[in-house]
Amino acid sequence: MNAEPTSALPDFLAPVFAQYPLPVVSADGVWLATRDGRRVLDLYGGHAVAALGYGHPGWTLALRTQAQRLSFQSNAVPLEVRTRAAQRLIRFSALDFNSVFFVNSGAEANENALKMAFNLTHRSQVAAVQHSFHGRTAATGAITWGAAAKWYGYPRTPFDVAFIARDDLEDVARQVTPATAAVIVEPVQGVGGAYDLRKDFLQALHERCREVGALLIFDEVQCGMGRTGAPFAASLYGIQPDMITTAKALGNGFPCAALLMTPRVAAALKLDALGTTFGGGPMACACIEAVIQAIESEDLLAQVRRVSTLIRSRCLVGPVIAAQGAGFLLGLRTARPAKEVHAALLERDILAGTSGDPAILRLLPPFILEDEHVDLLRRALLDIGS
Ligand code: PLP
Repeated sequence: MNAEPTSALPDFLAPVFAQYPLPVVSADGVWLATRDGRRVLDLYGGHAVAALGYGHPGWTLALRTQAQRLSFQSNAVPLEVRTRAAQRLIRFSALDFNSVFFVNSGAEANENALKMAFNLTHRSQVAAVQHSFHGRTAATGAITWGAAAKWYGYPRTPFDVAFIARDDLEDVARQVTPATAAVIVEPVQGVGGAYDLRKDFLQALHERCREVGALLIFDEVQCGMGRTGAPFAASLYGIQPDMITTAKALGNGFPCAALLMTPRVAAALKLDALGTTFGGGPMACACIEAVIQAIESEDLLAQVRRVSTLIRSRCLVGPVIAAQGAGFLLGLRTARPAKEVHAALLERDILAGTSGDPAILRLLPPFILEDEHVDLLRRALLDIGS
């Protein structure tokens, strides 16, 4: 392990992120190594990013090979690796999509999805769901629940937004109207507390969108790319949205995101309708291919489903009283503040996550997590006690 040099200099980083007491210097599989020699089990995966864990051989080789072959060319140049990544992603989704627009971040994917909906419907209102998180840009902050009070930071929102109460079927008809351009929803909410929305609620959103001519956008930035144990939560729920946005696990740490569009949405695309410099870069696309290749060849969706069930059956102990979410977007409800349990786990060399719900500890582990790691979590929770 290469220890990074310590420095007495200030780090000059904008002080906007609270820091865990966890000086990570390297990682392997599901384990983080710290400067002070600890090995920490990573059940958080860098905010749901490290789907294949750390140092995955296929992903590492793909990135290195692509870096040596061709590190970058813009979208004005046709690249086989870009086409292959798009084809592979659409095949992986097993849904009715025929067009992919690659970008760099989850928020950017959502921005472009909204843009498509405004252009297609010639309407200017959006409906989102309470407790949603869709990003920090002007448009995605506007559709994020509670952003105005917390961190929105812009003088006004760029369009009108209605928020639908979670799982409230009657509120769907109230908030989604003939003026609505799009409904955007995380089928399993991430920041909102690993909250799996009810199937009948998502179906009601789908039906209401059809009724009023609005587009349905599934934000699967966090819950997509296999995290629920299905390629996308859309297939888990049996719903075909008009667009899916995805990021995080998509590149396993190489920054990238994608907007998937149905043939109807894609038909509205024109030259220069959307744009990006870095989106669809060859290294990102090589990583996307490698992620899908690993998920498929290592049967990781089945592993997510199996180990998730194991966590639910073995880890409702100590401070944990219930579980919610899906696959490896799991919310463990704690009898005392999740923050305290998070800190106690970290003292026992396990990194979990918290969420917008103060009683929910969020687990977003790499898909390669095994039974033995679940045992470690169980033992730590028992040790913490209720
Ligand atoms: N949408 C969801 C569901 C997210 O969880 C996030 C980030 O946490 C975003 C969008 C924004 O993604 P990014 O931080 O890549 O812009």
